[in-house]
Amino acid sequence: MRRNLVAGNWKMNGSLSANAALLAELKAGLGEVGCDVAVCVPSPYFAQCQSTIAGTALALGAQDVSVHVSGAYTGEVAASMLRDFDCKYVIVGHSERRAYHGETSELVAQKTLSALKSGLTPIVCVGETLAQREAGETDAVVGEQLEAVLELLDVSAIKKIVIAYEPVWAIGTGKTATPQMAQDVHAALRGKVALRDAESAAVVKILYGGSMKPDNAVELLAMPDIDGGLIGGAALKAADFLAIVAAA
Ligand code: PEP
Repeated sequence: MRRNLVAGNWKMNGSLSANAALLAELKAGLGEVGCDVAVCVPSPYFAQCQSTIAGTALALGAQDVSVHVSGAYTGEVAASMLRDFDCKYVIVGHSERRAYHGETSELVAQKTLSALKSGLTPIVCVGETLAQREAGETDAVVGEQLEAVLELLDVSAIKKIVIAYEPVWAIGTGKTATPQMAQDVHAALRGKVALRDAESAAVVKILYGGSMKPDNAVELLAMPDIDGGLIGGAALKAADFLAIVAAA
């Protein structure tokens, strides 16, 4: 039985005061949670968020990680630095990083490895553009993105990653994949993992991301291969995020 994970991706949003207000509302509203919950915050706020969520059901996550251990890599943040702030998760290969920062599937695979080596759980994002979906290339595109990661991992490491299926056309657009569309891709991704190792395929979490909101979360999360959500816009509104956590 896989335990759901709901991870908020704050992207480049927030401030000391806004974070304090959001986290206070989340802490007050969380109650008993039946799933794992995380907030992936901008790195300048790690210290604030670490101390604010200590002792709660919320875990801390980052939005990117360097492939390098340390040294002359201006602007980069090493996995060990994320661990210094008790980060548990790190998003790798988000479509915004692939599109705006030229991240290739090979680099994303190296980042996944770098996270795992430091004991972080990488949330590996894959997803197709609208043009790729319309050309019938969805399974091939997400399959190639996942394969690049699987190729670098020992079998024992596969179950330590989280996969997030995020159709690019659904991110921040208000358009959501229907539950069946998402389920079909999740099943294909799990099938891809199974080709490498059936046991890992049974336990690896596959999140859906792309305009998940309180009003579509229940249906999406009811699908057999959807094990939680990676939440952008709705993660910035405590009531919405809490409603998705409750649905999970
Ligand atoms: C995301 O950026 O990971 C995401 C899923 O965003 P949104 O929920 O806003 O579509």
